[in-house]
Amino acid sequence: MSSALRAEVGQIDVDAIVVGAGGAGLWAALELAREGIPTAVLTKLYPTRSHTGAAQGGVCAALGNVEEDHWEWHMFDTIKGGDYLADQDAAEVLAREAIPAVIELERMGLPFNRTPDGKIDQRRFGGHTRNYGEGPVRRSCYAADRTGHMILQTLYQQCIKAGVKFYDEYHVVDLVFDGGEADKGGRCSGVVGYKIADGTLHVFRAKAVLLATGGYGRAWRVTSNAHSLTGDGMALAWRHGVPLQDMEFYQFHPTGIVGTGILLSEAARGEGGYLINDAGQRFMESYAPKLMELAPRDMISRAIYQEIRAGRGIGGKDYIHLDVRHLGRKVIEEKLPDITELARIYQGVEPISEPVPVQPTAHYAMGGVPTNLETEVLADARGNVVPGLFAAGEVACVSVHGANRLGTNSLVDLLVFGKRAGIRMAQICKSTPQPGSVQGAERAVRDELLALSTRPSGVRPAEIRRELAALMMDNVGVYRDEALLGAAVKGIAKLKGEYANVRVEDTGSVFNTDLLEARELGYLLDTAEATAVSAYARTESRGAHSREDFPERNDAKFLAHTLVWQGSDGAPATKLDYKLVTITKFEPKARVY
Ligand SMILES: Cc1cc2nc3c(=O)[nH]c(=O)nc-3n(C[C@H](O)[C@H](O)[C@H](O)COP(=O)(O)OP(=O)(O)OC[C@H]3O[C@@H](n4cnc5c(N)ncnc54)[C@H](O)[C@@H]3O)c2cc1C
Repeated sequence: MSSALRAEVGQIDVDAIVVGAGGAGLWAALELAREGIPTAVLTKLYPTRSHTGAAQGGVCAALGNVEEDHWEWHMFDTIKGGDYLADQDAAEVLAREAIPAVIELERMGLPFNRTPDGKIDQRRFGGHTRNYGEGPVRRSCYAADRTGHMILQTLYQQCIKAGVKFYDEYHVVDLVFDGGEADKGGRCSGVVGYKIADGTLHVFRAKAVLLATGGYGRAWRVTSNAHSLTGDGMALAWRHGVPLQDMEFYQFHPTGIVGTGILLSEAARGEGGYLINDAGQRFMESYAPKLMELAPRDMISRAIYQEIRAGRGIGGKDYIHLDVRHLGRKVIEEKLPDITELARIYQGVEPISEPVPVQPTAHYAMGGVPTNLETEVLADARGNVVPGLFAAGEVACVSVHGANRLGTNSLVDLLVFGKRAGIRMAQICKSTPQPGSVQGAERAVRDELLALSTRPSGVRPAEIRRELAALMMDNVGVYRDEALLGAAVKGIAKLKGEYANVRVEDTGSVFNTDLLEARELGYLLDTAEATAVSAYARTESRGAHSREDFPERNDAKFLAHTLVWQGSDGAPATKLDYKLVTITKFEPKARVY
């Protein structure tokens, strides 16, 4: 045996497993602890390094602390922002439960910014409006531009206090199924974890497993996402027969630092920042005259591309300017300290006196593992659940964000559905017996990991990764068409072929990140494939999915969620199905801002 894996296999029995310690995973773990359920949280990163900690702008809830607001307005904005693809029962849960969730966080000690009379302060964010679209409303609760950091620290402290058991730096490399795969009625009965520190495999058995592994922005070359966001939970579920939902809807955030994609939060526009083209014009007035820079992200990213195509990028190049100079030093330093620092460090620009060059950056997965309102994973379009498997946070698609997420709605999604996941899993754990033995469940993945490190020769993962990221950027970006997407599907299949012969150079067992990155590349290829195949099949434009060959939204044919299944034996995915959108209160209309 190669030394990349050590022989010992541990087996650990718990009631519940949470994979991932971002906002969604931590809140679920906290609920489980409150119910006294023996729980293991496995996380490949130290918990407070999860991407939730990078969220800057805020978390929205219709508290109405600064001006009149109602959860119904929030619900409407979420649905319209999502171009009517969001399930309206889910959007209602999000908007209603956002309010108690934020208040609960405050009681846990989260240091929100305050109004002069001591309430949680709120600021504007794109697409959040007063009275069903009349104008911007202050709905985003924030802690400077470090909101996610504060949420993560607060929830982690609470988990430690409640005695949650963490397995830090355990990389989950497989899910265990009992009685067949998910599409054959099987039940999820555990996970296999690879302990990064020493290369041992550990099998965990449980009655309920939550995927809270975040997104897959690393599939694109220019992205705001951390290196760890490689779609692990989505790909692992997909490999076991779970469909992925609405993967064609991937959000490009308008304001990434040019070249690196590092995010400059929408908070900059929420506080009043401008977007300026080469002619010095606030060009959003031609695209969204009412909301201007506070229009939803899909629209602004398209507008930036239009400006660049028309030769109005700065100096004729592929970026435009974010200008906050008029806000003044005090507002910039007090309310936008971190993003100002990012512009200084990564771009050498001083936002107090200079405009900042920005361009769209791959940011957020609206799609993911399909779930119902209780976060139970769905096996098909009819709503049958996969017993034992749950998903919450960015890995999941419930679907509250539809075809385009509004800023600040992801953090709320984590809080509301992370909490719901913990509650539902606790119920299941109390009423379900332990599944059968999972001994030997690590064999398949052990062989796969060994193959990566024992092949005598082969392609280097970094090369495939670079090609994949370029292909996704060029062909599955803000604008798409049949030729681009067709080439993407073929290109990904070719890269998957090469991946079958990939080889890692580090054969050691201690912190073998080479091996894990190769494994993660496999997840990226799977999620990229699901994205390109779903995008190819959706011949309309809706939200973040913008087809130049089909520029109109087509409700007659596509007011439905896409489900895509992995092909058998590595063949490209061809099985797709569609699930009708749940409409309760708001009939689809043209989307004007
Ligand atoms: C730069 C940036 C700024 C943002 N700003 C905002 C904002 O202001 N407001 C907002 O609403 N949203 C914002 N978002 C989006 C939001 O932060 C994310 O969607 C959200 O934090 C995702 O949380 P999560 O709990 O789903 O997963 P994450 O916080 O991404 O955590 C994923 C967890 O899964 C673990 N994990 C992954 N794979 C494995 C594996 N194989 N084995 C074990 N563990 C694994 C990781 O260790 C980690 O703990 C921002 C995103 C970015 C990138």
